[in-house]
Amino acid sequence: MRILLVEDNERLAEFIAAGLKSAGFVPDVFGTAADASAAFESAPYQAAILDLGLPDGDGLELIKTQRARGTTCPMMVLTARDGINDRVTGLNAGADDYLLKPFAMEELVARLRAILRRPGAALSVELGLGNLVFDTAGREVRVDGALVPMPRREMEMLEHLLRRAGKVVPKRSLEEGLYGFDDEVSSNSVEVLISRLRKRLQQSKAGVAVHTWRGIGYMLADGGP
Ligand code: CA
Repeated sequence: MRILLVEDNERLAEFIAAGLKSAGFVPDVFGTAADASAAFESAPYQAAILDLGLPDGDGLELIKTQRARGTTCPMMVLTARDGINDRVTGLNAGADDYLLKPFAMEELVARLRAILRRPGAALSVELGLGNLVFDTAGREVRVDGALVPMPRREMEMLEHLLRRAGKVVPKRSLEEGLYGFDDEVSSNSVEVLISRLRKRLQQSKAGVAVHTWRGIGYMLADGGP
């Protein structure tokens, strides 16, 4: 799941990004309101985490503007400011949750998963196809109830395909969803991941298969290969 992180403190941004990655998210990090604003326009995000005090503006203004433009993804505010007024203002501006610095990474991840689970969040928690169930909050894949261990990127790939099961997913959209802006994407990474994922699905006796649409993309469907 691709997450927009807006935090101008570089060390804190790195710490949060690392925590998000190990929890299975794909964070894109920006340090200014202007860059964050441009990123909102250019890529689909499943959620955003925003610092309030940014060098070129206020995180709350950014949220207000994005809400006015129709951005519906859940947004969480991070701030050192204490006090009820800021909380009320933040929630009125369209934030879904509020976290005061300093915080534990576990808490941030738990709150993020909670806002992603809320009714109205565009994402359901469990995705299923045939005998395969993907728990998007717990980051677990099961086939006939048995856990299938899977590296993070393969899991991301499976999630993207599963969300559009029965439809062809363009290769380009897989690349965009899988990699943050600062990750290097080699031209065959998607092919390599697809081939590993296929092997793993077969070995785990999943009743689903990834079909190749040459020159277009991939489709996950019920049934064998
Ligand atoms: Ca700041």
